[in-house]
Amino acid sequence: MLKIRKAFVTDNHSPKNPPAASCHSGDTVQFETRDCYDDRLHGDGTVDHPELALENPATGPLYIEEAEPGDVLKVKIERIDLNPTGLMRASTSAGAFNDLVSYRKVRQFDLTDGYVHFNDKLTFPIDTMIGVIGTAPRTDTVMTHTPGAHGGNMDCNKIVAGSTLYLPVNVKGALFSMGDLHALMGDGEVMICGLETGGVVTVTVEVVKGFPMPTPALSCRGKFYSIQSANTLDQASRKASRAMLGFLQQVTDMDVYDCAMLLSLKGDLSVCQIVDPQLTVRMGIDQDILDAYGVVLP
Ligand code: CA
Ligand code: CA
Repeated sequence: MLKIRKAFVTDNHSPKNPPAASCHSGDTVQFETRDCYDDRLHGDGTVDHPELALENPATGPLYIEEAEPGDVLKVKIERIDLNPTGLMRASTSAGAFNDLVSYRKVRQFDLTDGYVHFNDKLTFPIDTMIGVIGTAPRTDTVMTHTPGAHGGNMDCNKIVAGSTLYLPVNVKGALFSMGDLHALMGDGEVMICGLETGGVVTVTVEVVKGFPMPTPALSCRGKFYSIQSANTLDQASRKASRAMLGFLQQVTDMDVYDCAMLLSLKGDLSVCQIVDPQLTVRMGIDQDILDAYGVVLP
């Protein structure tokens, strides 16, 4: 199996980035990822060569031979194997609590037994997600800390093993990359980080042609989501809701009124994150709704 080592990292999604590797549609590929601190932060708070650190590095990009602009890249997340430890670091300059803390406290957590042992009263199962995952924009260079139409730093805690992500193909080969694993992260990522770690992600990539997917989109645990990012949560909420409404209009015989009423009754609008340069929201519907219309996702 092709494996892209974490020596091949980038801090941006760009059509100009040379591929780290190439594959064919349908191939299964492993990505070894660094943590969001570029593997330089230690549990005692020290940082190796901070002047060299990449922020939120992503491994790749992977060039998929059959991918052409206008296609959709289907990414089935097969499994995620984590490093044995993870880190969190408080921020004095960003996040919802920055003015309440006076220094950048670091905590290290053991991840070896499937649980996050927060303290002597609180233990939580690990629920690993991928923070940064995206394709190259058509012309722009977007830093890996910023989410957008290409995916990127969406920090959606539904992007987990077993889920399927659909990303736009904007350039030939798609130039797909990922990083920023979280062993656990709540909706919002309110402090500034999840439980940050590295690991190995195994995915199967497939090029989909001719399906009106509201990218970035996600199928996870019986739900289907449209994920959108914008300057404000209001704008992101509107974009995600409209993307789902447009999709429903295209794949069902319901008109705009019925689609709007349906989303008002059964839409599940949730915040992914509020701490990145663009804010991210997802609109979800039950897969059962698509099943009722015979809509089979590619
Ligand atoms: Ca992130
Ligand atoms: Ca992160």
